[in-house]
Amino acid sequence: MIKKFIRKILKSMKETGLLKNWFTLSMPVSEKKVYLTFDDGPDPVETIRVLDALKKAGIQATFFVIGKKINKNREIVKRILDEGHVLGHHTYFHKPPGEVSAKQLLVEIEETEKLIVEISGNSSKLFRPPLGKLSLSKLMVLWKTGKSICLWNNDPKDFACANLEEVLHHFNQQPIQAGDVVLLHDNQPYAADAISHLVEQAAKINLKFGTLSALQK
Ligand SMILES: [Zn+2]
Repeated sequence: MIKKFIRKILKSMKETGLLKNWFTLSMPVSEKKVYLTFDDGPDPVETIRVLDALKKAGIQATFFVIGKKINKNREIVKRILDEGHVLGHHTYFHKPPGEVSAKQLLVEIEETEKLIVEISGNSSKLFRPPLGKLSLSKLMVLWKTGKSICLWNNDPKDFACANLEEVLHHFNQQPIQAGDVVLLHDNQPYAADAISHLVEQAAKINLKFGTLSALQK
């Protein structure tokens, strides 16, 4: 009975466009783009390397930043924005999801939002949960705050790789495709060096690179 009721509500929300951009794993294939995303920065060493590599390739990406790291790395956040990249939330403390209540999550979103607005002049609607884990009460918080939940569908697990070759091995096994949202970490040593390889792979199949800015709407 309740399930039927929830299904009915979800259906009507979709029909009225209320669920548009609420939950994203991948982007429309028709755009013929791949979407690089970098989590867990800004990092004073690796984010700079990633930004340099993106600049060299002439492409843009999306950075899911941790609130407490923004304060120490404001200049890097400014550079991310100045170079046309897009910012998203990745909580303030990045604690294991099981240790964070929905109420705490809301506080972290508000604290991070303050910093993002201070630096960029705009808020960000994009939110990526650490480890992609959410509970029903956290989903409600994100719904109420109007956040767009940005997950991913192509994940080399670079944080667990021992070297660049392991990251590239993943992309040989699961080559990037149109609409892919690729998860990399700009606090890890391989993300920056993987970029030129992904650019080569994309060029072979005529793919461009895009940001998740469409989900801000
Ligand atoms: Zn993370």
